[in-house]
Amino acid sequence: MEEKVLSLKKAFQQDLSTATDSKEVEQLKVKYTGKKGPIQALMLELRNVDPVQRPQMGKVINELKSEIEQLLQDASEGFLKVEAQAQLESEKIDISLPGKNRYLGHFHPIRIMMREVIDILINMGFSVQCGPEIDSDWYNFEGLNYPADHPARDMQDTFYVTEHLLLRSQTSNVQLRAMEGRNPPIRIIAPGTVFRNENISARSHVFFHQIEGLYIDREVSFADLFATMEELWSKVFNEKVEARFRPSYFPFVEPGLEVDLRCTSCHGKGCRLCKHSGWLEVCGAGMVHPEVLKNGGIDPHEYSGYAWGMGIERLAMLRYGISDIRMFTENDMRLLAQF
Ligand SMILES: [Zn+2]
Repeated sequence: MEEKVLSLKKAFQQDLSTATDSKEVEQLKVKYTGKKGPIQALMLELRNVDPVQRPQMGKVINELKSEIEQLLQDASEGFLKVEAQAQLESEKIDISLPGKNRYLGHFHPIRIMMREVIDILINMGFSVQCGPEIDSDWYNFEGLNYPADHPARDMQDTFYVTEHLLLRSQTSNVQLRAMEGRNPPIRIIAPGTVFRNENISARSHVFFHQIEGLYIDREVSFADLFATMEELWSKVFNEKVEARFRPSYFPFVEPGLEVDLRCTSCHGKGCRLCKHSGWLEVCGAGMVHPEVLKNGGIDPHEYSGYAWGMGIERLAMLRYGISDIRMFTENDMRLLAQF
């Protein structure tokens, strides 16, 4: 019996010395201390031992059992500690690594420009009124003093949806809507997208953005228009920008004019952006034509007004020194990420 205890002890020590992790220790625990294990078998064998020696043998077996259990527990704890440490090491977050650069979205340069212009004009007393992008011939042309056979219609090649419906070619389609059912003073701006059937080039596109301005009241004059524009440019460009007003013709204003700004890229010396003229046209404007006031239900003998249609792309080109309007729609991240 004693020999059996000794050889069991040896076998266990041999097994334990070859265990390499907590799992193997767990297997040894099952093997040696389980109900079908050798210790239990020895316990059962006690029945055959001489009753005189039985208590002594039982003690020996119990001590062996305690010893084995203690050794197993120590080994298990030792391995678990090492394993936990290894797991920590493998899952460790290296906080010294630079963070991942997450790309945050932002507004498109045209949207940035548009929002700024709107903010400036709202602060000057204008309110925003939007109009439909698909509109009737009346609001886009006829009501603005472009009769059906008027040659000025050829100035803008228009996309027609049906015979009388079109993609608006100018934000001026908001003018009559602003006047309808309202008494002056009327002071609105109308931002939005406009569409023209033109060849796409460095300076023109089939769609672009305008902001319309309309101010109708008693005794409104060019002086009001010039003052408003000068204030706007100085805020947009953060400096006094030289402007040039040239007489021009648009059916819905009389007199009409075009506004050029001194090229901010070359300061007038001439560059690709300004086609070497030193100026860039940004705006058509004028005093609202009496016929248009009448179409809007306003008495032209009592009221006058000015209107402008300003190209947002042109302003953005000037401010950011972008010489090709197509760059705004190409979605080239090398450009867009700079804003
Ligand atoms: Zn220039």
